[in-house]
Amino acid sequence: MAQPSEREITAALASVSLPDGSRDLMSSGIVSGLVVKDGHVQFALDIAPEHADRMEPVRRAAERAAQAVPGVLSVTAVLSAHRATPASEPAQAQAAPELLPQVGAIVAVASGKGGVGKSTTAANLALSFRALGLRTAMLDADIYGPSLPTMMGISGRPSSPDGRTIIPLEAHGITCMSIGFLVPADTAMIWRGPMVMGALEQMMRDVQWGPQDILVVDMPPGTGDVQLTMAQRVPVAGAVLVSTPQDLALIDVRKGLDMFRKVDVPVLGLIENMSYFLCPACGERSEIFTHGGARTAAGEAGIDFLGEIPLDMAIREAADSGQPVVARDGSGAHAAAYRSIAERIWQKVGGGASLPDAPRITFE
Ligand code: ADP
Repeated sequence: MAQPSEREITAALASVSLPDGSRDLMSSGIVSGLVVKDGHVQFALDIAPEHADRMEPVRRAAERAAQAVPGVLSVTAVLSAHRATPASEPAQAQAAPELLPQVGAIVAVASGKGGVGKSTTAANLALSFRALGLRTAMLDADIYGPSLPTMMGISGRPSSPDGRTIIPLEAHGITCMSIGFLVPADTAMIWRGPMVMGALEQMMRDVQWGPQDILVVDMPPGTGDVQLTMAQRVPVAGAVLVSTPQDLALIDVRKGLDMFRKVDVPVLGLIENMSYFLCPACGERSEIFTHGGARTAAGEAGIDFLGEIPLDMAIREAADSGQPVVARDGSGAHAAAYRSIAERIWQKVGGGASLPDAPRITFE
């Protein structure tokens, strides 16, 4: 079948009317970031946050209209309240509906740059929280490079029986949500800023997270809009920074530190990943990079050093096969290392006293 063109999609969207009935959606000028690629269609509707309820039916109508164009395989339309909040008007952000009301502690796992094992660490920490008896959820906020589906071994699509809210998927006892469940991995890469913000907001607002003791958020690498949105929209209990020992990565970590400080998100500490190499053949430990750089950097920056995880083939194989090492070998040395880090994090976000077998904690 022929691939749908952008013109066909805009023509379809022009047939959608607005709540006041007077204009078509295209000429209203609120459609932004339209991407039509290989039959996949994505766009955002830029609206004022207070119009979210009124515009939700328009968003759905727009999705249906685009879906009806021959050759369209998938449509993702998001409401995007991306108007910058002036620094002098913090009240606007507070007036928006509360997100994630049933979630206890929100912990962001961040890194200065990509490829340092941030997602692997996030997944193994989530599994460790679960092993500690906590109700645990994971949000993949890495919209441009979602790795949660692969890492947790999830291939299904979440359902939406009411057409409004999404039922998240579950793997290894963790409630999971990722944009990778909804769009093919390569299409999210080309989204523009407002769509990313809209998608993130919807994953927090429209997903039935249920009551959770802790939500582990796998942040995108670096310091961008997603980090700011998270900090402004939800009460992040703290951020955990993941770094490899190389100095270069550590410079990026310092940038991350500064950013979280600026937005008043407490930095819970630093984890050194791929810290040293444990030879699988002889068991010898080699310090490939200057091991301990993260500990020094943490000390210099006045933040806690939470622990180190070795560079080990078993961790990579497990992460890439959908069964993180903590799930695969819960009583092994790696699981113990992640567990002790998880315990320290949980202590810091206020739940330390009630581990492990205590009655469930409920957050009001
Ligand atoms: P990021 O989220 O920082 O981009 P990932 O978690 O996706 O990084 O990890 C990048 C690659 O490194 C993956 O293939 C992962 O399996 C591997 N990896 C992560 N941590 C370790 C580790 N401690 N030992 C071995 N491989 C690791």
